Amino acid sequence: MPLAAAERALLEERRPLTKEEVLAVARLPLDDLPDLIALAHKVRLEYRGPEVELESLINAKSGACAEDCAFCSQSAHFDTGVDVYPFLDVEEVVAAARDSRDAGATQFCIVVAVRGPSERLLDRVIDAVDAVHAETGLEVACSLGLLTPEQAQRLATHGVRRYNHNLEAPRSMFPRICTTHTYDDRVETALLAKSTGMELCCGGIMGMGETLEERIDFAFELAALDPCEVPVNFLNPRPGTPLAATPVLSSREALQAIALFRLVMPAAWIRLAGGRELVLGELQAMGLYAGANALIIGNYLTTLGRTPEEDIALLDALGMPVADGPGEGRYVVAADGTHALPARPPRTRIPLNVE
Ligand code: SF4
Repeated sequence: MPLAAAERALLEERRPLTKEEVLAVARLPLDDLPDLIALAHKVRLEYRGPEVELESLINAKSGACAEDCAFCSQSAHFDTGVDVYPFLDVEEVVAAARDSRDAGATQFCIVVAVRGPSERLLDRVIDAVDAVHAETGLEVACSLGLLTPEQAQRLATHGVRRYNHNLEAPRSMFPRICTTHTYDDRVETALLAKSTGMELCCGGIMGMGETLEERIDFAFELAALDPCEVPVNFLNPRPGTPLAATPVLSSREALQAIALFRLVMPAAWIRLAGGRELVLGELQAMGLYAGANALIIGNYLTTLGRTPEEDIALLDALGMPVADGPGEGRYVVAADGTHALPARPPRTRIPLNVE
């Protein structure tokens, strides 16, 4: 019943689900997961089509971060043995972007491990953004932490298409995850990035000890920010961090989370990111049937991923074409602040080797 009601709401009435409707779906036994996955896939196809968008990351400044996010091996508060280095040379960033493009990515995200960028660091990031644009033609995203209005505007002016700033955790558990900045600090930067015209990429990490209800709250908290893209990371407990002993989420819980996120945010790019290899294991394909329509390819910030070739081969096998660019993925927000679901967007695609 809850699945039929959700299907009717999303595919016939074309209205967002209420939290109660999503909770009813979430409370179905995990043995019913195939039915939830089937619905999430239908919703994804209806709102976003079969394309999968590929992005790669560069950890352009690693470690020694002053913040204390409990999941993060780059925090200076924890003894994790992570690499520590200042911002890379522009040439190294461009070389990584070129490799990403050659591997099939259409978007390249420059990430630095800081609370927020100093003016000097921002100057260097902008030099790198300009060089990647000029030499690769890739869309560039940035993830630089908390921004001032002037910094956000500079990034937008230099053509940064998308700004990543994750909320990371549900509001209710954020103080357990980080004490050096607040949830509202993160919300503020997310809204600031959007106000400059950059697209908002905003997600978080599953499996940090949140309850299923908190996970659903989190999906709604994200949806309220109207993100274009939602990275879904799964905790890969890093030695030396306070979450080192946290049990890894099961594959079925992870698939359920992906599918619920798709039901809550039917038109977003939902990107499988860090921890997907650890948590989904052999079930990578199921993640893409459960509503995800974007992947980080290659390595993550401090952990290794699969090879891009493996992911491209997987998409080929699934008959899911690689999207030819990041594209839009937004709710339509009416003047009275209510959300409406958009009509299915026009689709462009680069066919893979698919019959
Ligand atoms: S998540 Fe970001 S802000 Fe938090 S400790 Fe890691 S690098 Fe610093």
